[in-house]
Amino acid sequence: MKLRRPLLTVAVLLAFSSASQALTFNLTFTPTTSLQEQAAFQAAAARWSSLFADPVTVNLAVGTAALGPGILAQAGSTRVQYSYTDVYNAFSADRTSADDQTAFSSLTAGPNFGMLINRTSNNPNGALSPTPYLDNTGANTNTIRMTSANAKALNLPVSAASDATITFGNSFTYDFNPSDGINPGAYDFIGLATHEIGHALGFISGVDILVGNSVNPPGFADDAFTYVNTLDLFRYSTLSVANASGPVIDFTADTRVKFFSINKGVTQGAGFSTGSNSAFGDGRQASHWKDNLGLGIMDPTAGTGELLAISANDVQAFDVIGWSLATAVPEPSTYALMILGIGGLLARRHAAQQRAA
Ligand SMILES: [Zn+2]
Repeated sequence: MKLRRPLLTVAVLLAFSSASQALTFNLTFTPTTSLQEQAAFQAAAARWSSLFADPVTVNLAVGTAALGPGILAQAGSTRVQYSYTDVYNAFSADRTSADDQTAFSSLTAGPNFGMLINRTSNNPNGALSPTPYLDNTGANTNTIRMTSANAKALNLPVSAASDATITFGNSFTYDFNPSDGINPGAYDFIGLATHEIGHALGFISGVDILVGNSVNPPGFADDAFTYVNTLDLFRYSTLSVANASGPVIDFTADTRVKFFSINKGVTQGAGFSTGSNSAFGDGRQASHWKDNLGLGIMDPTAGTGELLAISANDVQAFDVIGWSLATAVPEPSTYALMILGIGGLLARRHAAQQRAA
């Protein structure tokens, strides 16, 4: 009997916690969005709500439209920026998991942080040179950008009314029920929606901005790139880890391997895509995991017949950029299910692939 009482107390507390504290979505659908699409999008939002306990409301506008060739869906997120010191302090106050503790310990105390960068107009190796250099001065090293939803999770001030607009291509065949697998020839609508919401929640890289601004001379000076995002604070390479004055993040646009790490690169996590310009990247937007490795819902492509699932990699990344896990430690069976899902995903990679922007 003495053992039972605390157990009952815990159960009540957990129930109360899940009922009162959860990530909430306020969804607005355009008139072209079918009821079936609306229900599927709500199912995708519910996946994220079940994972994160942050008591915030994320406002999303959702619709369908004719998109560019090969683009299944896209998310345009509201971006906000803060001083690195404010973000550093927000990370400090937001530590709720063991990974949060480790990730925060890896951050440099402000006001500035260091990075490898390249392809800028003031690259000391020559304007727009691809050779990486260390930058630890100026506006781009004391400012952090993130989506407004991510800022809400970090309890930073946000005034934006809408956090993102998510649009699905209207010329594809979708499967709206992943519980029995995804039909050959159809795309996983709930999986795609889950992916796009993931961008809105903060899975983005400022390297995509660098890629876009480094093509046409004269390009931009590094101080104009105040676009390091929260996720980029955990973006490393072998070269950036070996930096002479200590490990720094890798914010370069080139084809070298970039990987996620919450401990300054000591442990190499999942790889990142390296940029949409195939002349100096792998052809995929840097705001994604590396393609075709089954790393998670934030992979850059989806094939027909492919089931898209949230992975342990995804959960860890969202945890450390500011989202608080609803449960401290996922049960082992959860991981087993995720691994099975990834296996199925890899087996179907022969299908024609489309970009999930
Ligand atoms: Zn994407």
